[in-house]
Amino acid sequence: MKTYRFVIPPKTQSLLKRIGRLADERGEAAYAVGGFVRDLFLKRPGVDIDITVEGDGVTFAEELARRTGSEVEAFSRFGTSIVVIPGFGKVDVVTARTESYESPGALPSVKKGGILQDLYRRDFTVNAMALSLSPGYFLRLLDPFGGLEDLRKGRIRALHEKSFVDDPTRIFRAVRFEQRFRKRIEEKTQRWLLASVKGRFIDRVSGERLRNELRLIFLEPYPERAVRRLDELGVLPHIHPALGVSASSKKALPRIADCIRFFQKNKMPLEEERMAWFQALLSARGEGDVEGLCKRLMLSRTEQKIVAQSAKAYPALLKELAKEESTVSRMYRLLCPLRPEVQCFLMASAPPPLRAKMARYFTKVQGSVPWLRGRDLQALGIPPGFRYSFILLEALNGQLDGKFKNRREALEWVKKSFVS
Ligand code: ATP
Repeated sequence: MKTYRFVIPPKTQSLLKRIGRLADERGEAAYAVGGFVRDLFLKRPGVDIDITVEGDGVTFAEELARRTGSEVEAFSRFGTSIVVIPGFGKVDVVTARTESYESPGALPSVKKGGILQDLYRRDFTVNAMALSLSPGYFLRLLDPFGGLEDLRKGRIRALHEKSFVDDPTRIFRAVRFEQRFRKRIEEKTQRWLLASVKGRFIDRVSGERLRNELRLIFLEPYPERAVRRLDELGVLPHIHPALGVSASSKKALPRIADCIRFFQKNKMPLEEERMAWFQALLSARGEGDVEGLCKRLMLSRTEQKIVAQSAKAYPALLKELAKEESTVSRMYRLLCPLRPEVQCFLMASAPPPLRAKMARYFTKVQGSVPWLRGRDLQALGIPPGFRYSFILLEALNGQLDGKFKNRREALEWVKKSFVS
């Protein structure tokens, strides 16, 4: 059996002591909680600290900021403040609270409470542990739901049966933590999770919150694992019927990360990197499906454009590209108008020979500058007009397909063909 001990870097330890002393001075008690405590036991200490104060978190955060010469951002609706400490990182401070859910999927109503109530409102046992920071009990563990035991046994366990009904976004969090830490959603928890999925409680969650959960999954080091698991649990079509992982997307998923790296390495940055992943979730690509999906998830204009382009291009465009006679200039015509996120997904979806051909195309061709411009045609005495676009396109095709070796040969061809 694994034993869990933790080591706190000295700088963090002295900040925690300071926080505990400050709370004590104010007649309050402070605790390190949530992901920070979980990650200490997993020996993956993060830089950000989550603090819960039995008292008034907002004025506590202001005082902490004043004493450490830091900035504070307050979000008073949930009594949460973020103190940004120079040279250290972020400290999230919340007032210990209890939450109640008036309707499933809605945001909770919040009331001040003690640390145990605060731990009970949390999602999973492994996230519901606290370390006391009070001077007399510094770093004493509060683990009322057996989070440490669950870490040892490798399981993600919800605190109660209604957890996924109260807040269905926990479905996504469960999968994210399970796959990130290579644990397993505990059996009973999985039954509760599936009951929430089948009960269509995801329908009640706003598009913004769902989009945010998907984004968080795409930011994980191995998003493909979490995507596969969401698919296995049948979650995706409950977000929208156009979502699911098709057999062909299953093949593309393990290659997306490599293709994203390829694009970065070749200086073709993906402005919306996570959208390279998102396209693998499109199981229905009709215009109506795509429109409905964009609306449901409240996608931004750029995201909508990517989804629409991808729905049109996949898989028809791959078939076109795979044709034997597909010339480089034809690849250029087909691929160049697409956003890099779509190009990246298509590359991940392509069978190996086509993928290699696309890689050659992206490294050698896509960024190439046309040898001829309008001013070259003018210099040859060709009167400006609609013929220019035809001549320039043909010249570019000749350049890409290797018909001309250099700019001089391209100019010769124009002279011979168009100058009498
Ligand atoms: P990550 O490492 O992804 O940041 P985290 O556990 O720190 O994970 P946060 O989203 O930063 O997650 O939330 C901090 C803590 O707040 C969690 O550890 C958990 O205790 C609690 N929490 C966050 N979201 C929920 C939720 N939807 N339901 C219940 N508790 C939550």
